[in-house]
Amino acid sequence: MLNIVLFGPPGAGKGTQSARLIEHYGLVHLSTGDLLRSEISAGTELGMKAKSLMDAGILVPDEVVIGMIDNKLSQNPESKGFIFDGFPRTIPQAEALDKLMESRSISISGMIALEVEEKELISRLLIRGQSSGRPDDQNEELIAQRVKEYNTKTAPVASYYKGQDKFHSVYGIGDIDQIFSELCRVMDSLS
Ligand code: AMP
Repeated sequence: MLNIVLFGPPGAGKGTQSARLIEHYGLVHLSTGDLLRSEISAGTELGMKAKSLMDAGILVPDEVVIGMIDNKLSQNPESKGFIFDGFPRTIPQAEALDKLMESRSISISGMIALEVEEKELISRLLIRGQSSGRPDDQNEELIAQRVKEYNTKTAPVASYYKGQDKFHSVYGIGDIDQIFSELCRVMDSLS
């Protein structure tokens, strides 16, 4: 099984590269951002609670996303593996993920971080905002708030995986195909 945490700040290209990786390796894509947006579209209570936080660029509570991941793991018992995109975003989420995996006798194969400078992230997200319609991509202040959440709460998650000798990084600026090849090179070294 190949279970990968695709890591990086908002706008690093996790969604774009996840879509290619799941196709290439036949894995299941688990994006907590996408799962939360589905809850919002479906008008569920969870979605309604998450929406105001998401629109303000603030992380939703750990237990909410951990519960969603737990459900998705249970729904895909035959999967060849998972790509976690936008999760874990805090140390408690990383610890919970290890427990969820352990209880199923599986484990994280590695984390791959997409490295992109902050200036590039902001311009990418503003461009994405013009087509995505995502409320949290619409202005520079909100984007800066999300990058701040990333730097304070999420960046430390890299150290968690470094401590387990599972951290890898790929430079995320340049040709999309070339970045994908580089990701594949790391993925192949983990399988
Ligand atoms: P994303 O699509 O990954 O950029 O996530 C959009 C928003 O959803 C984030 O700004 C958070 O408000 C929320 N979110 C997504 N994943 C998580 C997570 N793992 N933990 C907490 N909040 C999350």
